[in-house]
Amino acid sequence: MGKDAFRCVECNEKATELHRDYNNGILKLTICGSCQKPVDKYIEYDPVIILIDAILCKTQAFRHILFNTRLNIHWKLCVFCLLCEAYLRWSLLHGSEQSNDPADIIRYTKEWEFYAMFGSATLELSAFCISVLWFLWLVVVQLQGGAIDFSLLLRALLLSCYGKVLLIPTVIWEHDYSPLCLGLIKLFVLTSNSQAIRVILNSSRRLSLSAVCVGVLSEMCVAQACKKLPWSVQDIKMKM
Ligand SMILES: [Zn+2]
Repeated sequence: MGKDAFRCVECNEKATELHRDYNNGILKLTICGSCQKPVDKYIEYDPVIILIDAILCKTQAFRHILFNTRLNIHWKLCVFCLLCEAYLRWSLLHGSEQSNDPADIIRYTKEWEFYAMFGSATLELSAFCISVLWFLWLVVVQLQGGAIDFSLLLRALLLSCYGKVLLIPTVIWEHDYSPLCLGLIKLFVLTSNSQAIRVILNSSRRLSLSAVCVGVLSEMCVAQACKKLPWSVQDIKMKM
């Protein structure tokens, strides 16, 4: 681990270590030179407590996860969330039709629509991430003359999409309030995205919310474009 590899979860000041080992079994939390509080109190906490604080969008918990851990599951999590999203869309499409036509049964077996949904969800997420990164580059690097670590920011964006795994229980235990649940999950994921951007850049809430809004707009444009493509799911169905 390099010098200043960590951050104080309270004040975002850089730190060289989180704890000091005194070799006789005594570990002591490092105290931040800036705010005089432990650099990272979460290293003593149970993962469940950290997860609850992350769900509550606490800045300290986000700083702990994004700066002081080397959690490297963002690509796996991203693929899993895309599969959840594809499954949700596919099941909504599947559930809206009641057909006994053998051609339809064969089509369901091949699950072409699932792959199409996975493709469109991937395009939408890519559009979201690219436009958020582009907007932040424009504002922070070009207008304010700052610097951005894009790989760290992308990791934060992908990790903060973890709320999408909640789509699976919503689909499995379908009820009258499912559309409301899906809306709340979307809102939760966007709030987490905004908080992750704010923590990584140590920026204002306004900048992170603006970046997320630009991302959502771009995602909606791509979703509309996907519906109009000649090989969209609706057209595949028409041809079969
Ligand atoms: Zn501090």
